[in-house]
Order: sequence, then structure tokens, then C-alpha cells
Amino acid sequence: MTVLSKPNDIARETLRLLVTRKEAPTPENYGRLYCEIAGGDDVGLAAGGIDRMLQRLTAELPRSTPELARLGNSLAAAAASRNWDDGHRALIDFAKQQCEHASAAEWAALLRELARLLRDHLPGSPYSERQTALERALAAGGTTQMLYGRLLNLTHAWAKSPTLVTPAAHAHADAACGGCAGGGAGALELRELLAYTLEIAVGARLIDAPLPTAQANALARQLRAPEAIDLAALRAELKKLFLNVELHGNARDGVQNGLLQLLRLLAENVGELVADDQWLRGQIAVVLQVISGPLNLDAIEEAQRNLKNAIHHQGVLKQSLNETKSMLKEMVASFIDELGTLSTATGDYHDSIESLAQRIRQTEDVGQLNVLLEEVLRETRTVQASALNSRREVLRAREQVSVAENRIRDLESELEQVSDKVLRDHLTGTLNRRGLNEAFDREIAFADRKQEALSIALLDIDNFKDLNDTLGHQVGDDALVHIAGVIKDTMRPSDSVARFGGEEFLILLPGSDAEQSAAAVTRLQREMTKRFFLHDNRKLLITFSAGIATYQQGDTQSAVIARADRALYQAKRAGKNRVVAA
Ligand code: GH3
Ligand code: MG
Ligand code: MG
Repeated sequence: MTVLSKPNDIARETLRLLVTRKEAPTPENYGRLYCEIAGGDDVGLAAGGIDRMLQRLTAELPRSTPELARLGNSLAAAAASRNWDDGHRALIDFAKQQCEHASAAEWAALLRELARLLRDHLPGSPYSERQTALERALAAGGTTQMLYGRLLNLTHAWAKSPTLVTPAAHAHADAACGGCAGGGAGALELRELLAYTLEIAVGARLIDAPLPTAQANALARQLRAPEAIDLAALRAELKKLFLNVELHGNARDGVQNGLLQLLRLLAENVGELVADDQWLRGQIAVVLQVISGPLNLDAIEEAQRNLKNAIHHQGVLKQSLNETKSMLKEMVASFIDELGTLSTATGDYHDSIESLAQRIRQTEDVGQLNVLLEEVLRETRTVQASALNSRREVLRAREQVSVAENRIRDLESELEQVSDKVLRDHLTGTLNRRGLNEAFDREIAFADRKQEALSIALLDIDNFKDLNDTLGHQVGDDALVHIAGVIKDTMRPSDSVARFGGEEFLILLPGSDAEQSAAAVTRLQREMTKRFFLHDNRKLLITFSAGIATYQQGDTQSAVIARADRALYQAKRAGKNRVVAA
């Protein structure tokens, strides 16, 4: 036996011996054993000294674990009450616990098994069920032995449900549970999860790829089957599936890139087509910008909006372009029609021009207009020479026509003058009896039509015979010319003046009734007194008498003249140089 010198060590060893020798922890037994260990004599130990030693022992006993604390407290209570039965029981229980503690070899075996079961657990799971269970067991607290027990139970539970096993661990697992099929609840759940992932996350997303879809669905079926799964075979199948998914993804990327290039090409070409339209070019530029960057849904929607705008605007442009095109076509066709009518003489040319005009109206392609216009020019050139000749002839003819027209105008003028002369008095230039007849007829017709007044004034020079007799017939003629001039100058332009007889004048006054006519003739009388007839620088006053009559509807010329004549007679009888209305 080792000789101990420190009282603490001797006390601890004394307790151990009490337990191992299964002696009652009485002060006597304790004292005896203490002396034995310390190598002393039990006689030296007084009862009071043993009590103090026990109290020191219980006070200094380490309480680092709940078990030690419990033991220390029980011993302290036993020492204080000197009830050694309780102390005895506490010591025995503690010793029993100590004897049940696992050895280092047992811990090593347990930890190894734990590590294996954790390693063989489902790969890829971020925080597997086993890890969670382990954490829970470690955090539960209690004695080391309780922890050992919990961990041991865990390995037993895991060993009963090895769902997936690596080939290396296969044999071991088989040995451990005799070829497990199906597995525990957690593993089944994981199999279902993988099957679901394959169906939904892989199969359902590859509608346009039958091969990987079929593969994913087959694997899902396999995972849901009750049979155990060979992990190596599963891994190989999954590898194949992911390879196919990747290939399909590459193909889809290719299609997407192709579409993008197509869109870019379209946008660029449309942009060039609409070089004149700043707005449309701006929209196309936005589309190009959107598809040049990394694609996302917002960018694609933006591109769609811009394209829609551009298409709408393009539609409006196209409509106005169509309108302009048809206007141009109509203009060209009309021009060709004109060209055709200009040269009716050349029958063939006319026909071909007409058919060209028809084709121009029917053509949908404005570009075709130029081709057709070329044909028109060719056709026109062939008849150009004859057209020039025709033009010369036309010019010559027009010249002749012009000469003829001048000649006709001269002749007409001449004829008019001749006719006029027929109607006029050659001495005074006033209307003669025939002229008066025509003028009178015209005014009567007008008065009837317009329901307007028409009067006549019949003038007779007073004592004209005397003038003739005194100064000679020629002076009489000169006097007549002078009087006619004063009458014409004084009366209205619409009035007509005629020489009715030798020294008598008749004036037609359209639009004037008797009174207005009398006033007009009285004014003429006054004018005569102002404009003297000059003979040999002598002023000769010539007067006249006048009778006025008004036309009544249905009157003949002579009836009206007769009434005027009667009024004139009365004027003479009344003393001459006066005006009398009928
Ligand atoms: P009264 O006032 O009553 O009319 O007197 P009177 O001398 O004018 O008479 P009356 O009218 O009867 O005379 C007409 C005269 O007019 C006659 C003729 O000598 C003159 N006479 C008629 N015709 C012409 C003519 O053409 N030339 C000239 N010089 N005299 C003419
Ligand atoms: Mg007379
Ligand atoms: Mg007279």
C-alpha cells in the first residue's frame, strides 16, 4: 500500500477503503482505517479529532459533478448529525455509480461507431436528421454515464435504419442489421424528397426535353419503390441525368442566343429602313440597348413595349406612304392620259400610252412606276419627230387662222360702219328715218319688257325759212349741223336723236315720262341760248318749239309721233320757243 502523507489524500483513501471493504462508516471504522493508511496508531485518534477530520473532509470534498456535490452534502449532514447510516448509504451509492462508469475503450468504440453512422448518412443533406439527434443528445446534460447511455442508444437506433450505404460500408451495414430494406422514417422521407425534387425541379421544368424528363421520372419511381437502393448505381444514374440536363440547357441557351441575334438583326435593319424618322429610330435604339445587356424579365418587357410602339408608328407611316403612293400614281396616270390626248393623230402611240396609264393605275409597287415611265418615254421618243412636224403644221395653221381672224374683224367693222351709215343722216350724223324706226322698235320692246316709261320729243326750228332766205341755204345747212351737235351733247347718251324732216328732230327718251322729258328738252332750249350759231363772227340765236308725247303700251310709232306732232303744233300756235307735252 502506498504511504500517503497529505491529510486530504489519507481521508479520501480512507473513504475508498470503507467502501471497498464494505465497512460501516462509523467513526471507529474510519479511525482505524485512517491509522492504517497513515501508518499510525488508532489509539492516538480521539473521537473528537475524528469528528473534526470528517467535517474537514466533507468541507474539502470536491463538488465538481452533481454526484460529488450530492455525496459531499450527505456526508456533511451525516457528520453534523452523527447519523452514519445516511452517510454510509450515500457513500455506497456513489461507489456503485463509479463502478458502472464506461471505460476509455468503451468510449472509443462508441465514438467510432457514431462517426461511421454519421458518415454513412444521406450525403448532401445540409443538416441531417442524425446530426440533429446527436446535438440534442449532447445538449441534454446529466452524468457522463447518462451521456454515454444516450449516445449508445443513438447508435443502436441508427444502426437499425441504414437507408443508404456506401459500397465500403455495405458489408458492415449488412452485418449490422442483416441486409436492410426500406429503412427508417427519416430515410424514407429523404427518398421521397429526392423523388419529388427529380419530378418537380427537374422533370416538370424540361417539358421540351423528353429524355432527361423520362430519366428523372424513372429515378423518382425507383426512389419511391420499397426496395433498398444501391448508392453507386443511383449516383451513376444521377450523373447521367445531370449530363443530359446540362446538354439540354446548352441547346436552350443556343436557341435563346439565336433568337436574340435575330431580334438584333431585325431591329438594326428596321432602324436603317426608317432613317428619316427620328422618333422610330429612337425606339429601335432603345430595343437594341435593352437586348444588348444581360437579359431579365423587366428588360424583355421594356423591349416589347418599345417594339409595340414602333410597330404602331410604322403602321401610321405606312398608311400615309400608301396615300402618297396612290396620289403619285394618279398624277402620273393623268399626265399620261394628257399625253395620249395630245397626240390622237398617231393611233398606235395613243393606244400604247393608254395601256401604260392603265398599268400605272394598277401597279402596287411604286418602284415599278419608274420602269413604266421609261416605257412611256421610249414610246414618246418614237413619235417625237412626227410630233414635231405636227407641231410646225399646227403653228402654221394657227398663223393662218390668226390672219383670217384679223381679216374677219376688219370686214365686220367695215360692214358695221356701212350699215351704220345706212341708218344715219349724212348731213347731221343723227339717225335717219330708217335708223329712227329701228331704234324706236328697240326702245318700245325694252319699255314693254321692263315696264319702263318711254317718251319722245318732236322739235321744229322756229322761222327757219327766214334764215335760209336771209343767209342762204348753205348757212341753213351749217345751222342744222350746229343744232344737231348741241342736241347730241346735251341729251343723255341713252337718248337717241334722229332727223325727222328738213329742219325737224325727234328725240327718244327711254326711262323718262312726259314731265321728265319736258324738263330735259327745256334744258336743251337753255343750252341753245348759250351755244350761239356763229356766222361771219355774228352770233345767231336759234330757237325751237317742241311737242312731247309718252308711249302707252300697244301704241304704234306713228300714233306716238302723231300725239307729239299735235303738241308741237300747239307750241307753235302758242308763240314758239316753247315745249308742250301731249
Ligand atoms: P315756223 O316757225 O312756223 O316753223 O316757220 P318756218 O319758216 O320754219 O316754216 P316751216 O317750218 O314750214 O319751213 C320749212 C323751211 O325749212 C323750208 C325750207 O326753206 C327750210 N328747209 C327745209 N329743209 C331744209 C334743208 O335741208 N336745208 C335748208 N337750208 N333749209 C331747209
Ligand atoms: Mg318745219
Ligand atoms: Mg320751222
